[in-house]
Amino acid sequence: MSKNLIIAIDGPAGSGKSTTAKLVAKRLNYLYIDTGAMYRAVTLFVLRNNLMGKTDDIIEFANSLNIVLSFIDGETNITVNGEDVSKEIRSFEVNSNVSEISCIEGVRKILVKKQQEMGKNGGVVMEGRDITTVVYPNADVKIFLTAGIDERAERRAKEFFEKGTDVPIDKVKENLKNRDFIDSNREASPLTKTPDSIEVDTSNTTIEEQVELILDQVKIIADKKRN
Ligand code: C5P
Repeated sequence: MSKNLIIAIDGPAGSGKSTTAKLVAKRLNYLYIDTGAMYRAVTLFVLRNNLMGKTDDIIEFANSLNIVLSFIDGETNITVNGEDVSKEIRSFEVNSNVSEISCIEGVRKILVKKQQEMGKNGGVVMEGRDITTVVYPNADVKIFLTAGIDERAERRAKEFFEKGTDVPIDKVKENLKNRDFIDSNREASPLTKTPDSIEVDTSNTTIEEQVELILDQVKIIADKKRN
């Protein structure tokens, strides 16, 4: 298998991107890059510093942050200015504010540049909302994952519960719908399926089936590249 392909996966929250992308990366021995973690990290620090709503200050602040993303023991690890915030970025408060921060074009520019730098040598599975459209429009394999809102809400509520927070399913669903709306309708790089992306609805497929489907595509592309 080719060692330097770029696999781009986009989709709404709870569509199974992280789980699928992690497993694909593992099978290929590729680097897994969770770009949502970077938007979450900026949001956490904006909240801590009471900067919500102050766009210019947020951009300047985001530019000053040293965000380092890595993948340790099967999990995304993220530090900001040396502090490990991997757990804190998953809080309900960050979930509720992240879409507002990710609408800011100046913030996106800073993070997209870092993401392009991280993937420049290939051998990556990168997931988010704008990977197939902006970060890597020429990615070798482009996937758009979807799933019904009820299925996605159930997955997210389960994740919160497993992490020790019991958020009512209605609240989770409302948060997801809100994020879907903002992420898909914002002016700066909205979430959208490109014509050349393969759409996979994960409502009725197992994780293993999703992984196999993507690996099949990777194999087809890798074979084409070799010939
Ligand atoms: O993927 P995750 O749910 O962790 O992403 C959190 C938020 O970060 C999304 O709801 C979206 O607002 C933003 N995001 C983005 N572009 C990306 C990745 C995430 O705007 N590439």
